[in-house]
Amino acid sequence: MRRQYGKKATILALALSLCLATACGSGEQETTGTEAEAVTTKATTEAVTEAPATTEMDTAPATEEMTEEVTEEQRPVPNEPQLSLSGKHEDVTEVKETSYYEGDSFILYFEKGAKVHGDIAEVIGKVIKEEEEVYGLSYADAAYLRANPEYLWVLEEFGSDFNGLNNDSEKLNIMIMHYTDDGAIEWSDLNTILLFDEDFEAETNGMKTVYHEMAHLLRLRQSSNLGDILEEGIAIYAEDQLCRKNGIANWDLVQFYDIDGYQANYDASGIQQDPEKMFREINGAERSADQPAYAYGIRFLTFLHETYGADVVKKLTETASKYSFEYDNTDMIIKVLKEATSEDVFERFGKWLPEGWKAWCEGYKAYMKPFGFE
Ligand SMILES: [Zn+2]
Repeated sequence: MRRQYGKKATILALALSLCLATACGSGEQETTGTEAEAVTTKATTEAVTEAPATTEMDTAPATEEMTEEVTEEQRPVPNEPQLSLSGKHEDVTEVKETSYYEGDSFILYFEKGAKVHGDIAEVIGKVIKEEEEVYGLSYADAAYLRANPEYLWVLEEFGSDFNGLNNDSEKLNIMIMHYTDDGAIEWSDLNTILLFDEDFEAETNGMKTVYHEMAHLLRLRQSSNLGDILEEGIAIYAEDQLCRKNGIANWDLVQFYDIDGYQANYDASGIQQDPEKMFREINGAERSADQPAYAYGIRFLTFLHETYGADVVKKLTETASKYSFEYDNTDMIIKVLKEATSEDVFERFGKWLPEGWKAWCEGYKAYMKPFGFE
């Protein structure tokens, strides 16, 4: 299915209550809501594959013989203006017309009406560094994108106005839309994410969604998609780590807190009983409102880090890079997982869960206490 993106009117309305959980672009996502004509906003491999080449330009990287000047000359001039940013947080610009900002490793595309702080490029630069530190991966390593040119795509609907930009997808495409309460959600794809201006505001989102989507972007550029549980787990784990590191409240994660009489969004007792069976069931399933992949994912990534070390996602990525598979090929994903960790990874996870997860909950409670979590 062809996705529409960038224009608010075409972004699918989804239940707002699922904002965190559905904010992610690494797998199939069911459309909910009442719009009969709703299209999936998800970046499925299939959807990307179906998308025809969006540019007539040669997407091959510039050869060494090409001088920078020639490359610049060959590049069509984007129709939209560049937004100049002051670098100061206190300067807030309401974007007058669709425009962009080009950094060294990313391009920000601003929707008309978005309210943007003058330091947004610096903020993104800091997030890039922090995400790379969490996982020991680099955004510059986009081997998967380069090896799969059919996945290279530039912003089409929003970005037909930007057709001179980023045709090799070397830079991250970051779309910043103006938030309105219409049910639209953030998402990510191999090389593109959609965020709202509000995601950068301390009093509303406080950066957690930026951390989440940027983590997807870091991972998805590097290998075949590891499926909902691992990809969402990776994004939530990064979100959790970076919110704690930066002293940011993350109330979304309360949905996983299930001690002290709290009832979680999803009853995870089945995971405890048979982790591998539940991995297979959840990974291959359609997404549902209680978000089992997220509940499994945050537990699993916390366990993987504690058990196999801080470079576990790097190892997973390196192992996955040896193969090519679809995001719903659970057999292959489990093969990659076991090869990168150990054959008995699920048995160990089952043993870790009761105390390991309780410790996560207690740690979460302690970190959230200053924000009023009791
Ligand atoms: Zn996600």
